[in-house]
Amino acid sequence: TKLKVGLLFGGCSGEHEVSISSARAIAQALKTDFNADKYDVLPFYIQKDGYWQAGDLAQQVLESGTAIATINPNQTRWQFPLQAAEVEVWFPILHGPNGEDGTVQGLFKLMQVPFVGSGVLASAVGMDKIAMKTAYAQAGLPQVKYLAVTRSQVYSNPCVFPKLGDHIESELGYPCFVKPANLGSSVGISKVRNRAQLEAALDNAASYDRRIIVEAGVVAREIECAVLGNDNPKASVIGEITFESDFYDYDTKYTAGQAGLEIPAKLPEAVTTQIQEMAIRAFVAIDGAGIGRIDFFYVESTGEIFINEINTFPGFTATSMYPQLWAASGIPFSNLVDQLIQFALERHDKPP
Ligand code: ADP
Ligand code: MG
Ligand code: MG
Repeated sequence: TKLKVGLLFGGCSGEHEVSISSARAIAQALKTDFNADKYDVLPFYIQKDGYWQAGDLAQQVLESGTAIATINPNQTRWQFPLQAAEVEVWFPILHGPNGEDGTVQGLFKLMQVPFVGSGVLASAVGMDKIAMKTAYAQAGLPQVKYLAVTRSQVYSNPCVFPKLGDHIESELGYPCFVKPANLGSSVGISKVRNRAQLEAALDNAASYDRRIIVEAGVVAREIECAVLGNDNPKASVIGEITFESDFYDYDTKYTAGQAGLEIPAKLPEAVTTQIQEMAIRAFVAIDGAGIGRIDFFYVESTGEIFINEINTFPGFTATSMYPQLWAASGIPFSNLVDQLIQFALERHDKPP
């Protein structure tokens, strides 16, 4: 008998459309000869307003690739689709807040059904850039200098703001990067070069999140490494992102032809090995499970390597870095999807 896989996609996040693309690629992989006799797919779609759809409506989004926003007159509040009771393993294909951040992982855990990817802790720590950096500092992983700021520090007391600006300037200097702590896809991130830009950037970041991080800017190559596995995770070959824009912002990420992937990245062998080793340490440091992509800054002139971040559910379209890194490491897309489900089953903590 086939295992019923609940594909969960869409979601209340700025990465809704990317999630649909990732889900289409994964659904297709589950229908290939490699997987078709092992798995049955049950689609579940989370609309942008947070309502869940199963059955035909979810299937329709999966097939068309287009977001829908149904207004169901009978649905006046959040409902859990009945079909969810049939799911034997969940595959949450959600990027960003409300999905990659431990919220949905908590639901699955309560349901006592295994799921692909990291659990509550790693998902939440991986999503919050302040918590993540605290964990990585403790693990001895090199990072750029940063300051954690809260929205209330930006707004509450008019006297605080000049001091905050002075503090950031003296600690980090320019250029620096201002980021909402809990987002992805570069949404809400600004690179700033003076006080006026800094103030505008803090204001903008505060519109997305209570928690804000400000980082010293580095001039560096952007290097990514994929990790796969549970207690004995493996690192892939290394990839590099290339682009012409000022930084790897939203438009560069999602406009076709703006960014290039170089796999494997042209790096000295010692640097490659060091990055792979750091990627595994970063994955383990937050108790990552199944899947993770760890992103680095490599400063060529000094040889320094800084960890930038982990993404516990990275982009997973046919052309995304994560599956491409594994394809280049000898694990084709369909095989990768199968392995992720198997790792989910292996990890599930059964009651004693
Ligand atoms: P996200 O989680 O949204 O991808 P990142 O922290 O990875 O956010 O930042 C997005 C991009 O912004 C990076 O890929 C890089 O191009 C640029 N960037 C972020 N922080 C720095 C930094 N400290 N120095 C230089 N570039 C940075
Ligand atoms: Mg990210
Ligand atoms: Mg990033």
